[in-house]
Amino acid sequence: MAQFAVIGLGRFGSACALELMKMGHSVLGVDTNPKLVNKYADQLNRAVIADVTDRQALEELGLDNYDVVLVAIGADIEACLVCVVHLKSFGVPTIWAKAISHAQHLILAKIGVNRIIHPEEEMGIRVAQMLSYPMVNDYITLGNGDYIVEVTASDNMNGQTIKDVLREQMDDVQVLLIKRRGQTTIQPDADFALHAKDLLILLGQLQALRTAAPKLV
Ligand code: ATP
Ligand code: ATP
Ligand code: CA
Repeated sequence: MAQFAVIGLGRFGSACALELMKMGHSVLGVDTNPKLVNKYADQLNRAVIADVTDRQALEELGLDNYDVVLVAIGADIEACLVCVVHLKSFGVPTIWAKAISHAQHLILAKIGVNRIIHPEEEMGIRVAQMLSYPMVNDYITLGNGDYIVEVTASDNMNGQTIKDVLREQMDDVQVLLIKRRGQTTIQPDADFALHAKDLLILLGQLQALRTAAPKLV
């Protein structure tokens, strides 16, 4: 369990803060807007109304004790930059920030923000991947064309073995694990009999997965 602070409880910041709570972390939320702070006060460990461009107000939050501070102020670029400069001066170990423009990205990178997030662009890329491969539930890019993908076995997979289905793709695509109603089988044998709705995690090159995934779904 880590301690996170999320500055800016707009759509992006609040979604991130609530998800961190779900994952069992401790989260402080900060915003100038009392309506937003009140809205999330019950759902976060701590929620504070503060203007984070005000150095003293920010210092009182004790953010140097947090593992990561996420600055989720998009529109007010000046407020975002000033806040990051203050956080740096307090010695906050890790700072992530949302950027909405190239100029903001450049400056955030220069002042030493550890990770800069572009929600619209990053989500646009993911949506394109999902549109292009609707049979894939989720994916991770490993670089060099390697991907890990999750697919759900279709009803007509019932009783078929992995090698029945994948055949010549057996060498190119690895089934890393199969999840069936909460039970996980790691690196199942080629003779493993599939059930409808099994979740399969596959590893391979994009080209091989392109051929293999549609056979399973
Ligand atoms: P989203 O797209 O995530 O909904 P937004 O683009 O609508 O965000 P932003 O202007 O990026 O809104 O700001 C996000 C939040 O940051 C807002 O709720 C805003 O009140 C808060 N915020 C802006 N400036 C400050 C500040 N100086 N101190 C604290 N919070 C601030
Ligand atoms: P993003 O957050 O993705 O940068 P945005 O919120 O800045 O988007 P939107 O107002 O959502 O901008 O519009 C996205 C794009 O859709 C803009 O380039 C806009 O010109 C275009 N757009 C808006 N309305 C229409 C329309 N009626 N017909 C065609 N294009 C439109
Ligand atoms: Ca926005």
